[in-house]
Amino acid sequence: MDKVECVVVGAGVVGLAIARRLAQAGREVIVLEATGGIGNGTSSRNSEVIHAGIYYPTGSLMARHCVSGKHALYDYCESHGVPHKRCGKLIVATTPEESTKLAAIKAQAASNGVTDLEQLDRAQVKAMEPALNADTALLSPSTGIIDSHAYMLALRGDAEDAGTACAFEAPLTRASVSAGGGFTLDVGGEAAMTLQCDLLINTAGLDAVAIARNIDGMPQDLIPQAYLAKGNYFSCSVRAPFTHLIYPVPEPGGLGVHLTLDMAGQARFGPDVEWVETRDYEVDPKRAERFYPAIRRYWPSLPDGALLPSYSGMRPKIVPPAIARQDFVIQGPREHGVAGLINLFGIESPGLTSSLAIADAVATIADEG
Ligand SMILES: Cc1cc2nc3c(=O)[nH]c(=O)nc-3n(C[C@H](O)[C@H](O)[C@H](O)COP(=O)(O)OP(=O)(O)OC[C@H]3O[C@@H](n4cnc5c(N)ncnc54)[C@H](O)[C@@H]3O)c2cc1C
Repeated sequence: MDKVECVVVGAGVVGLAIARRLAQAGREVIVLEATGGIGNGTSSRNSEVIHAGIYYPTGSLMARHCVSGKHALYDYCESHGVPHKRCGKLIVATTPEESTKLAAIKAQAASNGVTDLEQLDRAQVKAMEPALNADTALLSPSTGIIDSHAYMLALRGDAEDAGTACAFEAPLTRASVSAGGGFTLDVGGEAAMTLQCDLLINTAGLDAVAIARNIDGMPQDLIPQAYLAKGNYFSCSVRAPFTHLIYPVPEPGGLGVHLTLDMAGQARFGPDVEWVETRDYEVDPKRAERFYPAIRRYWPSLPDGALLPSYSGMRPKIVPPAIARQDFVIQGPREHGVAGLINLFGIESPGLTSSLAIADAVATIADEG
């Protein structure tokens, strides 16, 4: 039976960042990926925003990893030639009542270590984005966008340069804790095999919960329940006249219908939040009815018929709809008692931004043994 020191399950952005980090620390790493390539899961179905770390509860893993991950990601993009733009984001209050909420957002950001938010008055916003309807706004200069696929290619390149092997169409189907320590893994696919490893990192995104349930020896009561919250996007048939990302003041339960830009300057609106039972990525055109009025609050001249169904992504939720917030869960032996096993659950947004920081956290847990 083949034996390897460390197996990372899932070649999404988080799995690749972890594989790179562990391989560069001198570990022998294999990445098992169920599909035929990297980034075929949530990592290619998101907004590609480098988040500043504004809204998350202070001290949460999301707040900490987003803020440190953002700095690491900008450095990485610059050193590796990954296309990105520090385009900034405006959080737009369209009424005086909403304007009163911006101070609390600024304070929350500051307590997360995001101290660069600037309060703008109506004239300043107009000068920056003439087509925008705003009473006031907050500018977040450290929010940006990234070509996430180029980023994943760079991570894979680094990981492979450090000796990592990536196996595609190689789903982990079952794992068990071996008698003498470590794990025995059943890998499916055409080249089905059995593999042994000392360190098993479960970073399979939407399937992480199902994989944990298939690890013989993992305490089942510590595995969260999985839920799916779909996020639908609409593209815009006309050129949106904005150079910043535009977010409304957050509403209870979500960030509101916001505008993000891709690296080519093309606008997309969303994601919204639709709790679903199955992974169906079709976007229902009828959902545009709720987008138009929300967008027109800050972009009154959005033309009728301009919104086109685009793509969707699934948030790997581990809390039910009634609970508004969840945090990342990174479970090591200290939490579940299984030596050598690290599970990552609920790695939704800002997982892309946080990927390098999450990789550091996983490496620290791995070093603790
Ligand atoms: C709508 C939406 C918008 C988002 N926008 C942003 C954003 O703008 N900025 C940001 O920072 N974050 C954003 N995120 C979050 C970010 O996309 C995710 O946190 C990140 O992509 C998660 O990466 P991952 O590697 O954990 O998961 P994934 O990308 O899902 O990768 C998991 C991989 O595991 C593989 N896999 C599954 N089962 C098995 C198995 N049995 N064996 C082997 N492999 C398996 C899958 O095929 C997949 O390739 C967004 C998320 C959503 C849903």
